[in-house]
Amino acid sequence: MRLRAIPQFINTLPFDLIIIGAGINGVASARDAAMRGLKVLLLDKEDICSGTSAYSSRLIHGGLRYLEHAEIDLVRESLREREHLFRNAPHLVKPLSFVVPLYDRNKRPPWMIKVGMLGYDLLSYDKSVPNHQMLSPAKTLNRLAGLNPEGLKGAAKYYDGQVELAERLCLENALSAQAHGAMVLTYSQVKKLIIENDIVRGVEFEDRFTGKLYRACAPVTLNVSGPWVDQILQGTGRKTKRYMGGTKGSHLIVDYFPGAPQDAIYLEAYSDGRPIFIIPWEGRYLIGTTDIRYDGNLDQVKADDAEIDYLLKETNLIIPTANLTPDLVLYTHCGIRPLPYQESGSTASITRHHIIKDHTPEFEGLLSVIGGKLTTYRALAEHAVDAVFKKLGQKSPQCSTTHIAMPGANTSDFTAFGQWFQQNSGLPETISKRLLHIYGTRSTRIAEMVACQPELKESFCSETGAIKAEILFAVQKEMACTLGDILLRRTMVGLNAKAGLGADENAAIVAQQYLGWSEQRMADEIAAYRKYIKRFRPSELQ
Ligand SMILES: Cc1cc2nc3c(=O)[nH]c(=O)nc-3n(C[C@H](O)[C@H](O)[C@H](O)COP(=O)(O)OP(=O)(O)OC[C@H]3O[C@@H](n4cnc5c(N)ncnc54)[C@H](O)[C@@H]3O)c2cc1C
Repeated sequence: MRLRAIPQFINTLPFDLIIIGAGINGVASARDAAMRGLKVLLLDKEDICSGTSAYSSRLIHGGLRYLEHAEIDLVRESLREREHLFRNAPHLVKPLSFVVPLYDRNKRPPWMIKVGMLGYDLLSYDKSVPNHQMLSPAKTLNRLAGLNPEGLKGAAKYYDGQVELAERLCLENALSAQAHGAMVLTYSQVKKLIIENDIVRGVEFEDRFTGKLYRACAPVTLNVSGPWVDQILQGTGRKTKRYMGGTKGSHLIVDYFPGAPQDAIYLEAYSDGRPIFIIPWEGRYLIGTTDIRYDGNLDQVKADDAEIDYLLKETNLIIPTANLTPDLVLYTHCGIRPLPYQESGSTASITRHHIIKDHTPEFEGLLSVIGGKLTTYRALAEHAVDAVFKKLGQKSPQCSTTHIAMPGANTSDFTAFGQWFQQNSGLPETISKRLLHIYGTRSTRIAEMVACQPELKESFCSETGAIKAEILFAVQKEMACTLGDILLRRTMVGLNAKAGLGADENAAIVAQQYLGWSEQRMADEIAAYRKYIKRFRPSELQ
């Protein structure tokens, strides 16, 4: 349910730009466009960050392996964006050390990795993290005692970035867009494009809570719906070319295991030479990913048994003490990479560059975004908004997103802010640390709520220590509409070992007490949440 209804008169509002899709690329485009003075309507059929952006490996990386495909400009752009994110979102995007073990069985010999590392260092000449290091076999095993020593010739160690809570990065972009005047409507599904004389005038969308249809108009519509781009184009009522060729990628989430690494491991799979990551994440490990062409239902993607077996087998081979079995998988994440359609060839070779497609002359007033990485979202948004201004026939104001911090990084020194907050928030250290990790400088607002109503300091999830105030904050200040929004994309409790099971009931009780949810709504929300998370295959529900 929404806090505020969709305005009846939305069809009369003079938007400059309608954006379809509130994944990372849609929210960032909305933010940039709103900052440059455009009147923006951002629509998503579900919540902010409920598509691919929530199911990535959560790396803000240059993409070492793109060097192999000679995508030098993409690597440079990614490394530059990584630095912007370290600076503008220090609470969410942090350096992470990686180790690439070098085995005599590997397809890529050590000299090739060394050359790649040198190239990576050169392309990130302006970086804030250290250069790479080559490690001897002994030093490698000293650092990663669990690695299989057989055939180990050493390792390369380097730094990249990680956004543990990609959902929050999306949300903060959406909040910033809203603060700059954008209208953000979630659970608003675009059903068709309004077309007159081959000109896209706007969209017809459905409020998924009421089933009511609305129309909104703007001279430009930006289709940035990730893997769903072609579905939106079907809403033109014409047969259009196929643009998207999504590939499915799955991750396993497991607890600490014997031999688990302190660094992220970037390994070459024994069975097929594919790259696989074992990544420390939120006190657990994210193991992934697969890369399989996918033509199925985009709303029902799940990791399958073969993917789970493959990732477990490869982990157990490189870390023999791990002994991971399917019952040790807490849950899985699975998403579809929104890649440009390519009829044949290896999935790894499909470019990760983004394309801003102008549909002129077929349709005027319509742009679609194809491809893109989480890492390069800001640059993608800048390019998309430049293209929007071009279509509007207006001179574009300067893009400012390279140097304006995210809402949760509203300080010149985040470390100093963190120390100040811990000393002055009046909250126990565990709670203040948790709040800083999730909300950054916006934690002060939750502390203020607790200061007014001290009982809101009580926890509703014993594992994460999440407090009641966060639920109110999610709904009243962060556009959460459902229990799923609260757990999976605001408080992040849905990423705990049980995928939020158990905490879901506690959270619904808090919503009943403080937000007026009825008994019926509580039951419906819990049932909907449990149905939704079945896609993660949580061990608790197996
Ligand atoms: C397994 C995997 C691992 C990855 N790892 C990384 C990584 O480590 N680093 C990296 O940089 N990139 C990574 N990526 C790529 C990255 O995640 C994606 O490129 C990026 O998240 C795409 O964002 P998006 O906003 O374009 O699409 P999405 O996040 O999918 O957003 C599209 C939105 O459009 C909405 N939508 C769809 N249809 C409609 C409609 N009819 N009306 C309204 N809204 C609609 C959806 O609900 C969705 O919210 C990975 C991807 C995958 C799948």
